[in-house]
Amino acid sequence: MTEIVVLGAGPAGAAVALGLKRLGYPVCVVSEWRRFAAVEGVSQRVLDGLRQAGLQRALACAAAPSPRRVLWNGDGQSINQECLLDRPRFDAAIREDLREAGIETLEAHVLRVESTDAGHLIHLDSREPLRADFLVEARGRSAPLAGGRLRGPETLSLLNQWQEAPGRPGSAVESLPDGWAWMARLADGRCYWQITQDAGGLPPKDQLTDYCAKRRAESALVRELFGDAAFEPACLHARSSTAILFHEASGTNWLRAGDAAMAVDPLSGNGIFQSLSSALQAPAVINTMLQRPDRAELARQFHQRRVEHLFLRFARTGRDFYALEQRWPDQAFWRDRSIWPDAEPMHAPADFNQVRVERAPVIHGDLIDAVEVVVTADQPLGIWHLQGIELAPIISAFERGELDQALAALPEPQRRMVQGWLLSQGYR
Ligand code: FAD
Repeated sequence: MTEIVVLGAGPAGAAVALGLKRLGYPVCVVSEWRRFAAVEGVSQRVLDGLRQAGLQRALACAAAPSPRRVLWNGDGQSINQECLLDRPRFDAAIREDLREAGIETLEAHVLRVESTDAGHLIHLDSREPLRADFLVEARGRSAPLAGGRLRGPETLSLLNQWQEAPGRPGSAVESLPDGWAWMARLADGRCYWQITQDAGGLPPKDQLTDYCAKRRAESALVRELFGDAAFEPACLHARSSTAILFHEASGTNWLRAGDAAMAVDPLSGNGIFQSLSSALQAPAVINTMLQRPDRAELARQFHQRRVEHLFLRFARTGRDFYALEQRWPDQAFWRDRSIWPDAEPMHAPADFNQVRVERAPVIHGDLIDAVEVVVTADQPLGIWHLQGIELAPIISAFERGELDQALAALPEPQRRMVQGWLLSQGYR
């Protein structure tokens, strides 16, 4: 049986390992612990993704939704909600989920990987090297990147942590002339503040804690959310938050998932969601590469196209949010990010002339298969089913001038749904 090793026990590595285990593969996860404590804000769809991946204990770590204040473009304040995730607890719960599923987890630092077509030799700091027939690279932003295919403006996030008295949890985000800050307070009084700025032009390392304390003192939002301790220098961790798309999302005997394949700007608030998205599709891709070598190229193409599509979608989401801030159009931070990665709209307008049938790869059971899908201006990867109804036969019928007959063959509720979809695509 093929030995599969997954590097990294973050949400992506764990989701791939659980999916492979379900398909009957022996899989081993190698990971060290994160070296810093962080809190992240997640939306309901991250929670749905964790449930779908079978990461039940990790899911249980998310705090109940708490209010998030947004102060952007000086336009007063809006309030929405997010769930706060204590990452050390979350990461520990992920490993419990893996153990519960019977997946071997080795705690070790991966020094380097020697790869050939015959397999991989993984050199670890504390053990004998490990052999793998197939490798899943899920070490997040720490995975070797060598430049990347597409890189956003170089960005650094400085995360500060301190302790206050327990109180009501909450978070806030605000735009600043040269960046933006996200801040959160947990019910147990742990407080976090994170400023994201251009990677160049920051003070020297030994002045960063004072610099951050000074920036907090300038913020009315910090004053509202935290007590006086917020104005003291606090424990600091700097991490890159540059958006990066890696060159290739897979090779003949390896595959990248999560941030190792593409890491998005944290402003999109979708990091964990995107890492789960690429990971949830990976087991079917790997299964196809191993069981159906005749379809290996198709499976790799499927993974690549979806990773690129997701990356661009989140990059454009971030771009549009940056563009909403219009007070500092001449500041490089805002100017560069409000035009990257391109000028393409987030959603292409409906255009029925572009609706067509194409053969494209999809997940079909546990494998990748090529089927007829409907491609639209806004869905270039194609739609196979609309709530269980295959769309390609409907569009093919339209092209033959037999749309009425095809619609008449559908039960009433489905017919209405398909008619609604056709109208939304510009069909008149
Ligand atoms: P990771 O979660 O990074 O997991 C990788 C694992 O690999 C870790 O356990 C690590 O210890 C291990 N590892 C790394 N190197 C080695 C090695 N050499 N040997 C052994 N093990 C190793 N996302 C959100 O959804 N909401 C947010 O609010 C949010 N805020 C963010 C703020 C910042 C500043 C940044 C940079 C990211 C933020 N993200 C956020 C994104 C989120 O953290 C990631 O998208 C997500 O954790 C990626 O999951 P992953 O499994 O791909 O990688």
